[in-house]
Amino acid sequence: MNPLFSLSRAVLLRMSRAAALGDLVQRTAWGRRSVRRFVAGDTITAAVAAAEGMRALGFLATLDRLGEASVGARADAYAADAVTLLRAQAAAGLEPNVSVKLTALGLSEGRAAVRLNEILAAAREVRGFVRADAEHPESLDALHEIVAAARGAGLPVGTVLQANMRRSGGDLDRLVAAGVPLRLVKGAYDPKGDGVGDPAAVDAAYLALAERLLATKIPVALGTHDDAILAALAPRAKGVAEAQLLYGVRSDLAARLVADGWRVRIYTPYGRDWWPYALRRMAERPANLRFVLRSLFGG
Ligand SMILES: Cc1cc2nc3c(=O)[nH]c(=O)nc-3n(C[C@H](O)[C@H](O)[C@H](O)COP(=O)(O)OP(=O)(O)OC[C@H]3O[C@@H](n4cnc5c(N)ncnc54)[C@H](O)[C@@H]3O)c2cc1C
Repeated sequence: MNPLFSLSRAVLLRMSRAAALGDLVQRTAWGRRSVRRFVAGDTITAAVAAAEGMRALGFLATLDRLGEASVGARADAYAADAVTLLRAQAAAGLEPNVSVKLTALGLSEGRAAVRLNEILAAAREVRGFVRADAEHPESLDALHEIVAAARGAGLPVGTVLQANMRRSGGDLDRLVAAGVPLRLVKGAYDPKGDGVGDPAAVDAAYLALAERLLATKIPVALGTHDDAILAALAPRAKGVAEAQLLYGVRSDLAARLVADGWRVRIYTPYGRDWWPYALRRMAERPANLRFVLRSLFGG
C-alpha cells in the first residue's frame, strides 16, 4: 500500500477519536454542509423522510442516530431517539430497522445492555430489528456477550463481523451458534495487533467469512461497496442475503444491485454527532476528503 495513504488513513482514524475537535467542528454550519452527502439530516423527521425516498427507489433502510462514546444523560438521549426512530418508521409504514452503537449506549459505564434492552423491547412491539454495529477492537468482547444474551432472550437483535480482524473467524462460530443475525463488513477501525493484513488479505478474509456465513441458516447481510466481492458471491447470496451500502456511497452500484434482483438496504445516518463517522468515510477513500474540501470551499 502507498505509505502516504496508510499514514493519512491512520491519522484520519486517530482524528476520528478526537472528541474535543469533533465537538467544535460539528457545531459549525460549514462543517454540517461538508458532510451533507453522507448524512441524511439533523432530525428523526429528516431521517424518516430519507427512508421514504429510498423506499420509492426500491431500497430498504436502516437508520442510525450518529453518536459514540457517551454516558449518562447523553446515552439516555441516544437510546430514547432509537426508540422514537423505530416508532416513527412504523408510523410511516416503513419496516422499523435501526443500527446502534454500544459505546453510545454507555458501554464504558456498564449500562449499554440495559439501554439496548429498552430499545429491543420497543423494537419487538413494532416488529422491528436492531443491529449493534461493530466498533473498536476493545469493545468487541462486550458487544458479542451483550448481543448473544439478548438474542438468547428472543429479542430482535443482530450485530456485525469485521473481516479485517483475525478473531472474526472464531467470533463467527460463536455468534452463529447463538443464532445472531450478522452483517459482514471489511472493518472501518484500526484492528491494532489483530489485523489480517493488507487490503488484498482483507478481501480474501471477507470472501472466506461470507462463504461460511452463507452456509448457515442465520440471516446474513453483506455490507460492502465492492462490486467484485458482490459479483463473486452473487450466485449463492442473491435472494438469500441482503446487500447493504452506506448512504451517499456508490449510489450507482445500489441501483444496479436492485435492478439485478438483490435486496438492498441503505445504512442511513442522521444527527449532529457526525465527526467520527465522517472521518472514517474519509479514511476509507481519500477522494472523499477532496469532496468534502470542495463542498466547503466551493468549486
Ligand atoms: C452497510 C454498512 C454498514 C457498516 N457497518 C460497519 C460496522 O458496524 N463496523 C465497521 O467497522 N465497519 C462498518 N462498515 C464500514 C466497512 O467496514 C468499510 O469500512 C466500508 O464499507 C468500506 O469498505 P468496502 O467494503 O466498501 O470496500 P472498499 O474496498 O473500501 O471499497 C470498494 C469500492 O467502494 C468505494 N468506496 C468504499 N468506501 C467508500 C466511501 N466511504 N466513499 C466513497 N466510495 C467508497 C471504493 O472506492 C471502491 O470503489 C459498514 C459498511 C457498510 C456498507
